[in-house]
Amino acid sequence: MKSKKNKIICLISIAAIALTAFFIYFNNTGEDTAFVSYAEFMVMAEDGQVSHVVLSDGAMIQFYTYASDVTYETSNPRNPALKEQLLLMGIEVSEGTGFAMSGLLSSVLPIAFFVMMFIFVIRMIARTSGKNAMSLNVTAADEISVDVGFNHVAGNDEAKESVQDVVDFIKNPEKYTTYGARMPRGIIFYGPPGTGKTLMARAIAGEAGVPFFATSGSDFVQMYVGVGASRVRELFKKARAAGRAVIFIDEIDAVGKSRASGNMGGNDERDQTLNALLAEMSGFSSGEGIVVIAATNRLDTLDEALLRPGRFDRQVEIGLPDLAGRKNILATHAKNKPLAHSIDMEELARQTVYFSGAMLENLLNEAAINAAKAGAAEIGPKEIDTAYYTIIAGSEKKDRSAIKEKERRITAYHEGGHALATKLLSPEHSVSKITIIPSTKGAAGFCVNLPPDKMYFTKRELENQVISLLAGRAAEEATFGADNVTTGASNDIERANRIIKDYVSKYGMSTSAGLAELSDEDRYKECQAHISKLYDEALALVKNNFHTLENIAQALLEKESLCERELDAIIASA
Ligand code: ADP
Ligand code: ZN
Repeated sequence: MKSKKNKIICLISIAAIALTAFFIYFNNTGEDTAFVSYAEFMVMAEDGQVSHVVLSDGAMIQFYTYASDVTYETSNPRNPALKEQLLLMGIEVSEGTGFAMSGLLSSVLPIAFFVMMFIFVIRMIARTSGKNAMSLNVTAADEISVDVGFNHVAGNDEAKESVQDVVDFIKNPEKYTTYGARMPRGIIFYGPPGTGKTLMARAIAGEAGVPFFATSGSDFVQMYVGVGASRVRELFKKARAAGRAVIFIDEIDAVGKSRASGNMGGNDERDQTLNALLAEMSGFSSGEGIVVIAATNRLDTLDEALLRPGRFDRQVEIGLPDLAGRKNILATHAKNKPLAHSIDMEELARQTVYFSGAMLENLLNEAAINAAKAGAAEIGPKEIDTAYYTIIAGSEKKDRSAIKEKERRITAYHEGGHALATKLLSPEHSVSKITIIPSTKGAAGFCVNLPPDKMYFTKRELENQVISLLAGRAAEEATFGADNVTTGASNDIERANRIIKDYVSKYGMSTSAGLAELSDEDRYKECQAHISKLYDEALALVKNNFHTLENIAQALLEKESLCERELDAIIASA
């Protein structure tokens, strides 16, 4: 608030100075001096109008007439004979600095004035923004966020699990350094907006009981080179002074967007800021309990310099919540609100597919506001309904409920196909999670298929991997017909082709081609034959186990995501 006021005062004074400057400038040139050509001047002089001429060695000479008070200017012919000529015409002639000065005054001074003003304004802005950065840090430093812990973060269980050790590390850095363990200095949380990345970072600080310093990448990237870098250094200085701390940088892409993704030609300010950040991070000694957490909506746009070891080398996805997650988040935010008993939270969670945590929080908050406005005793279904449509309207997903349902079905069968084939063909793989909630990588859903950690894969194992990849498309075909398959399989097909290419040319596993070196064309034909044979196998597998596929898809439509245990149960019951 205070900084906003400062900014306004700053802006008003700049405007006032600029106005005054313009007035002075135009007063000088516009009213008091008039330019005439040298030829005109000579005519006026011969005509006896000119009373006085001031000669100089500048670009201009000045003269006065009998008729007016106006100071005239004309080009200096730099003719040594001019003075005598004028004197012979009976015109008073003076020479001197006075004239040179006034030429200087009228041409150079305004420019100098504007330059000075420009410098002044820049300094002023730099100073106030420097102050902003400071005051921001000061408040953040004061704010020891013990008020937020992991229990405030509903769902996001995998993410919570993957940062457990970080909390312990901040608390007892020595414990890890004695073992020579290198803990991450930086963690990146990536996922759609409003999924609780900031909340999670705060919770880490809260769990560890250390101060939380929050800023945003966009605060660093200013118009003026050097400001961002100095703010970064300032921030780290504060954190170091606090001893142990969590530094949070939202919108890290503002600083660390990869050079490849647009903004070619470089941006000095951003580069300097990024370099300052990397330098500060590598300046930590490992015994310091300082962890930098950055958040972004998209990991793939980040400069890879940020992701190297010793920098942000741990990346944690924080995705949209599934049904269970949404139920938890709703419950968390319903705690302090008088919700009517008639509201079915399970049902509400079901209706809020693709809602982020922030949208869910917003939903209950809007409903509470509606109830307060209406003076209702509690928050009823009507208030929730109104709030629901307000929020849907504000999101891009509006009017999509019909399409959404169809997409969900396709995704459920597609992912079900992957899971089914993997479970039947490669039981040694673990399918840790299968979901129809879109991932940040753009897929409509996904099936986490982890191959066992081993040195060699047999020929049949590779073929099975390919079948599992193609089973998504095969399930779509078996369910919706060959004409209705979707683009959702493009990534699968790409990966399947990569495996087959290696299978044929690198591993020499193709029986017809054997170990022979193939021409490009032959290799292409060979791969094509294998892929289509394996696709047929995938299709047969899906069709032979269609009932199981349907059960998996149904369960997915119901719960949106299944863990391995649930998946195994469905397959076992077939
Ligand atoms: P992000 O940083 O990912 O954009 P935030 O952490 O700012 O998201 O989330 C905004 C708000 O949404 C939080 O303050 C919280 O009220 C709510 N929220 C988001 N995710 C969750 C969650 N998993 N559990 C509880 N509340 C959440
Ligand atoms: Zn797929």
